[in-house]
Amino acid sequence: MAHQWRGVIAEYAERLPEHVQRRVITLGEGGTPLVPAPALSALTGADVFLKVEGMNPTASFKDRGMTTAISSAAGRGAKVVVCASTGNTSASAAAYATAAGMICAVLVPDGKIAMGKLSQAIAHGARLLQVDGNFDDCLVAARKLAEAYPVELVNSVNPDRIEGQKTGAFEVVDALGDAPDIHALPVGNAGNITAYWKGYREYAGLDAGSSLPPVATRTPAMWGFQAAGSAPIVLGHPVTEPETIATAIRIGNPASWQQAIDARDTSGGLIEAVTDEQILVAHRILSSQVGVFVEPASAAGVAGILALAAQGRVPAGARIVVTVTGHGLKDPQWALRTADGSEVTTMRVSADVVAIADALELG
Ligand SMILES: *Cc1c(COP(=O)(O)O)cnc(C)c1O
Repeated sequence: MAHQWRGVIAEYAERLPEHVQRRVITLGEGGTPLVPAPALSALTGADVFLKVEGMNPTASFKDRGMTTAISSAAGRGAKVVVCASTGNTSASAAAYATAAGMICAVLVPDGKIAMGKLSQAIAHGARLLQVDGNFDDCLVAARKLAEAYPVELVNSVNPDRIEGQKTGAFEVVDALGDAPDIHALPVGNAGNITAYWKGYREYAGLDAGSSLPPVATRTPAMWGFQAAGSAPIVLGHPVTEPETIATAIRIGNPASWQQAIDARDTSGGLIEAVTDEQILVAHRILSSQVGVFVEPASAAGVAGILALAAQGRVPAGARIVVTVTGHGLKDPQWALRTADGSEVTTMRVSADVVAIADALELG
């Protein structure tokens, strides 16, 4: 049989802690495509690739960290896990908990979770509670629950999550032969920018603890993008009522705030804000010019490089990898609106070949 990708723990065993490998719970996460995006290269004057994380088992990058977090919990004999979530963490936690035979409790902000993600968590049998509050309130409650009750917290404040998610950086280097010049991605709770930076540093041999030979000769500048209505790191203070259509990054007080600042500063990178309008433009360019359908938050990195290119801040010919974090089917309603916000209409036609050819303007 041809080689099948075995999931990130088996593929990167030597670079992951031993305690996540005692009882491996995997759904085959990772091994996602790095897709050249000539349309974005043309728009930015750079050489742009997309790391398409919607191709993971539950259709977001969260699965990379969930395999390690749930495996670690399973190795310790845990029976119940809990997470706060804007949606994708709950979908992923619910799936991996099911595979491990565990109970999964999920706290989500009331009414602010996309339908696709809610369906996933429910389909996988999570005990889902809609909390009267935002994501930040949910995370505080989940942390307290895990302190006071026999429940394991699987949010990205759990270091096992970061360990799994760093494999995204390994895969980029494995595909390109070295680190890119720039790595761009959306920033919400800031676990992913923390994880990518850790992965790039480890692959370049820059972590003190490792005896493994370096794989990369350098590290990229990390470019993080927050939504303008939820941009605490850009503003320098928490946002008490974060707002954005990009619900996956609607977070006012990121748990990995300091680590994100470290990644930005030690990599020579930046963290800036993009508006919802810029996010939707990037979302549409991705689907209609590149061929990749993402959820709105996932377009923030692309919106960011387009904005910086317009300001002349993208070096010509730079090799840029942008993580597009989750699949468009998670939150498909955005595809059914035009740029001015009105609903897309589709043409009706009789089942007559001439009428159809006319409607398609083939005549
Ligand atoms: C979780 C998530 C993010 C934000 O990642 P952080 O690690 O919280 O910064 C962005 N996009 C999608 C689709 C997500 O699910």
